[in-house]
Amino acid sequence: MVDPVKLIRKNIRSLAPYSTARDEYSGGLGIYLDANENPYENGYNRYPDPHQKRLKERIAQIKGVPVGKLFIGNGSDEPIDLAFRVFCEPQQDNAISITPTYGMYKVAAEINDVEFREVSLTADFGLDVEGLLAAADEHTKLLFLCSPNNPSGNSFPEEEIVRLLREFPGMVVLDEAYIDFSTRRSLLAQLPQYPNLLILQTLSKAWGMAGLRLGLAFACEEVVRAFSQVKYPYNINVVTQKIVYDRLAEDIKPQVREIVAQRAVVAQKLAECRVVRQVYPSDANFLLVRVDDPREVYTRLIEAGIIVRDRSRVRGCAGCLRITIGTPEENRRMIETLKNMEQ
Ligand code: PMP
Repeated sequence: MVDPVKLIRKNIRSLAPYSTARDEYSGGLGIYLDANENPYENGYNRYPDPHQKRLKERIAQIKGVPVGKLFIGNGSDEPIDLAFRVFCEPQQDNAISITPTYGMYKVAAEINDVEFREVSLTADFGLDVEGLLAAADEHTKLLFLCSPNNPSGNSFPEEEIVRLLREFPGMVVLDEAYIDFSTRRSLLAQLPQYPNLLILQTLSKAWGMAGLRLGLAFACEEVVRAFSQVKYPYNINVVTQKIVYDRLAEDIKPQVREIVAQRAVVAQKLAECRVVRQVYPSDANFLLVRVDDPREVYTRLIEAGIIVRDRSRVRGCAGCLRITIGTPEENRRMIETLKNMEQ
């Protein structure tokens, strides 16, 4: 069994984190002359809670996870970067990832000067479990998996992820950004069994809060503590903490159901378009679509004011565009534009 504490960089393990002015006082009303703030109340003159206590308790309750196993960041991009900063010695350690996948893992590796080893998915975007295990050595600290995967849209079988959790010698970062659109269950319930599991989720997709920037990371207490010590003290601002808290009362299920239903409609309609060669099965809120001439299709959509993501230069995605599921009207216009290309 991997001991995550041993994987943490020595300098991080012995870090004396910055303690904020308000760490020593948890009472209610007081006279705050400790943080050099402007004393005149306007709703924003005070620093936010650096521990995000109220918000974290609410999220932990919704997710059914002890609050000590939850870290919240400025989008998922913050915990992705923190994973490198906490676990990887620059120029010495390495991280492994599937490819194609979400581009930020590689960017974060490069920023942190950490070798990034990419193991291709199979032709139908399946996991090469043996290849991923074979790529690891004594300097390997992280494995990035994304399920459902961006940009392919498919999820990986739980048995394969579990095998990697059992046999991989480092932390397994499982990005579940799109899990709410999937028929598969989250691995959150397995957290207590695998101390090397780090799950990422986000409020940017199904929860509809991309503009507020709030990412979730779930891991054992020791890893969450290390992340909390390394993060900027005030990483989640006052407005985000408040609005996210209030919005968590919303029921996201009706919108998720609508998006998933539209995904099926759009997939079917796309398959009927003559310019479309293949629509890949998706468990997410987007579809990966292979066309004959991606540049031409992309340009025609742009001319119609419709922006999609051209993934055709990504390894394993030749000819592919990634199309997000929009409102029924947006989807209808996108399909109509593709159909008009046939005339
Ligand atoms: N993970 C995946 C797989 C994503 O596709 C994205 C955004 N496209 C993110 C994380 C980033 O999410 P956030 O907005 O929380 O930074």
